[in-house]
Amino acid sequence: MKWQGLINKYKEYLPVSNKTPIVSLNEGNTPLIFAPHISSLIGEKIKVFLKYEGLNPTGSFKDRGMTMAISKALEDGAHAVMCASTGNTSASAAAYSARAGLKCIVLIPKGAIALGKLAQALIHKAHVIAIDGNFDDALTLVKEITNKYPVTLVNSLNPYRIEGQTTGAYEVCDQLGSPPDILSIPVGNAGNITAYWKGFKRYQEAGKIESLPKMLGFQAAGAAPIVNKKIIEDPKTIATAIKIGNPASWQSAEAARDESNGLIDSVTDEEILNAYKILSSKEGVFVEPASAASVAGILKLAQNNYFTENDEYNIVCVLTGHGLKDPDRAIKSIEEPVIIPAKVESVLKEIGFE
Ligand SMILES: *Cc1c(COP(=O)(O)O)cnc(C)c1O
Repeated sequence: MKWQGLINKYKEYLPVSNKTPIVSLNEGNTPLIFAPHISSLIGEKIKVFLKYEGLNPTGSFKDRGMTMAISKALEDGAHAVMCASTGNTSASAAAYSARAGLKCIVLIPKGAIALGKLAQALIHKAHVIAIDGNFDDALTLVKEITNKYPVTLVNSLNPYRIEGQTTGAYEVCDQLGSPPDILSIPVGNAGNITAYWKGFKRYQEAGKIESLPKMLGFQAAGAAPIVNKKIIEDPKTIATAIKIGNPASWQSAEAARDESNGLIDSVTDEEILNAYKILSSKEGVFVEPASAASVAGILKLAQNNYFTENDEYNIVCVLTGHGLKDPDRAIKSIEEPVIIPAKVESVLKEIGFE
């Protein structure tokens, strides 16, 4: 059957009814791609797969939660929605609000949003306001305003966001034909690790899968409150999507870690950029830096002999957002092309055919 978005596909697992006006851009159904090069770096019998969430309609997994949050906001009679954002939430909220005819207000930390994401929020006509503060400050303001005024909060504190994002877990199981042994995922505000764990447990209760994966979450070293067990007042990392010092879903992320016998660790910006380059140059998959944290994490664990060589198993790395989101970072990571005369001889010389 034709793909009509994830609410249509997984409605029996989601809090929707026949009365819910579904606002969809046909999100979900993103590819699960085998990664031969990364697999070979991890271990002989280990298969690594990439859940390429950058191929959602606005280029990140946020669309999974947003189709639910905006549909439910419309069902509840809302006229306006609001979010704080490191970028992708605002891009997604702006697009789905445009589609639904809702007003969308976005608070962003000044100067800290990747160019592609800012362009998206603006082109979809959200009311974008930059504050002189970081993401955590922006979220505090949004919580206060949405508590008092008739504006629906669409950050991942909105339970429908998490519900929509559980579908990532269902898809991974459906695509693999079984649950993965390990799920590796970047952690920022910690909504997505919460959602995946909830999704796996729900699929098990429904009898769709037998076992549950181990959950591995990775924060950026300069923005690793869960790893360091303390709020980070001034988080720092080039991975702007996970530059968060006080995650809203802190406790449920710890629960996912502990119940699954997994871990939450940190990776440095250097490790993130290394994985970012391996993904693009060896696997052909272009992601934004935050997404590469899931791959950087398993490469780090492999170096520390975390994975037992003798067992055959599957690891799924969630690649949360598309590389085109952050063109500045891409340009910083490449060598500028050479400029040569427009002559056959010059081209041949440059490519070594002479
Ligand atoms: C939002 C986001 C994250 C972090 O997800 P949380 O649910 O906040 O932990 C990671 N990567 C990208 C690309 C994102 O947009």
